[in-house]
Order: sequence, then C-alpha cells, then structure tokens
Amino acid sequence: MCGAAVYQYEHFDPVFAEACEHSADGITLLCGSHHDEKTRGLISIDTIRHAAAKPRALSDGFAKGSFYLEGPPKVTLASWTFINTQSIVRAFDTDILAVKPPEFDGGPFRISGIFEDRAQNRLLEIIENEWRGDSKIYDITTEANKICIRRKPREIALLLEVHPPRAIIVARFEMFFRGAHIEGNQTRLTVRTPGGQEFQSQGGGEVDTAMIGFAIGPNEIGVGTCARGVYLEKAVAIPERRGAGRPNPAAANDP
Ligand SMILES: [Zn+2]
Repeated sequence: MCGAAVYQYEHFDPVFAEACEHSADGITLLCGSHHDEKTRGLISIDTIRHAAAKPRALSDGFAKGSFYLEGPPKVTLASWTFINTQSIVRAFDTDILAVKPPEFDGGPFRISGIFEDRAQNRLLEIIENEWRGDSKIYDITTEANKICIRRKPREIALLLEVHPPRAIIVARFEMFFRGAHIEGNQTRLTVRTPGGQEFQSQGGGEVDTAMIGFAIGPNEIGVGTCARGVYLEKAVAIPERRGAGRPNPAAANDP
C-alpha cells in the first residue's frame, strides 16, 4: 500500500485464522504499520484487495526502506571497510557513496548513495538514510537484514546487508558513474577510471578516518585520502594495461 520494501504477509482472503490452505491470490505484502491497521479493522479487506491488485511499489517504480545508523558508521564495500570516512566513493568531485555526520546532537549519521548499472539504470538510490530500489526493471527482495536486487532470477546486481547500529555491508555491487566504474564481491574489488586506469584488490583493506575512501578522477584513483590530499594507503596510476594491480610508489607520494 505504501511501497515499503520491508513487509509482512497478510492473508486477507480468507483471513489467516480461517485459512485451511494458502491461496496465493489471497495473500499480499503489507508493511508492519499497514498490517497492524488491517488487523485492527482500520483498513477494509476490499481496500487491501484493491491495493494488492495494484501494488504501490510498481506504480511508484520503486520499493523503499530506511537505514538507522549510529556512529561512527562502518561501511564495507566488498572486502574494503571504511570507518569514519565521509566520502566513501567520490568520482569527479561528486559523492556517489557518503556518510554524513548527524545534523544535531544525538541525531543519526546519514548515508547517501547512487548505484547505477552499466546502462545507467539506477539500481538503488539512498537519500539521507531512505533507500529506493527500482522495482520496474529489477526484482527487489528484503529478507531479514539483507536487501537483494536481481537483474534476472539468478543474477544479483546488488546485495546489501545491514548490521545496525553501525555497519552496512555492500557485499556485491557495481557502480557506474560518468565512465568511472567500481565493482566488487567478497573476494575482489575493482575500481576503474574513464581513462582505463585500474585499481584491483584481491584481499581486503581498511580506511579509517579519511576524507575520501576511493577518489576517482578522469585518470587517477586515490585510496584513503585525508584532508590535505595525501594518500594514506596507496594510490595507483597504471597507464594502459588493466589488471596489473600494483600500487605505484611514485604516485603514493604525490599529493
Ligand atoms: Zn505500508
């Protein structure tokens, strides 16, 4: 009814207590709040039936949910973990994944992000802790603490796990942004510039208290950039060939 991606099953026809068998037609998905209103008799069965025939998530084009973060949040992208890092991925001076500090004392940390696929379809957008997943093109499921977006039945485009109050794990993902490309799974993380430079990590990494996690420029990639623009971890500038994956010590010293 409201397009919430976190839902419960509602047996509206027949009601659960009278159900001898589960008929798929008589079951719909309701968020906890609407489910409670239905149970209290504040929403009629007819209204539920009409809503089930025309799911809000489909007419809106997205299913939505919220993150509840206390800090400092720890965001894991594939095998890389970012603690106390505001811009986790920045491409050409635009944050594509960021966690901002609370606006007021005791307020929540605020995560925002854009996950687009190669064809510039927006898989998932996070605006200040509210996430929206494209339900027109993709299949979105939320099970327990996981959000999974599939392109096809067996093809996962994005898998995100929430471990409140601090951690979000983006276990599998791909992000494209104006020619920059970053993708990863549990074992591998790859960052590419539009110019073809590439940073590859097979193991994990950790960036703690940095301004920027991955900074992607037209022709360079910085990892763990602090306030003065010094690369704390490593920086790579591999001309031409992709996949060499070796940090370039010269680039590491170049602010
Ligand atoms: Zn609802």
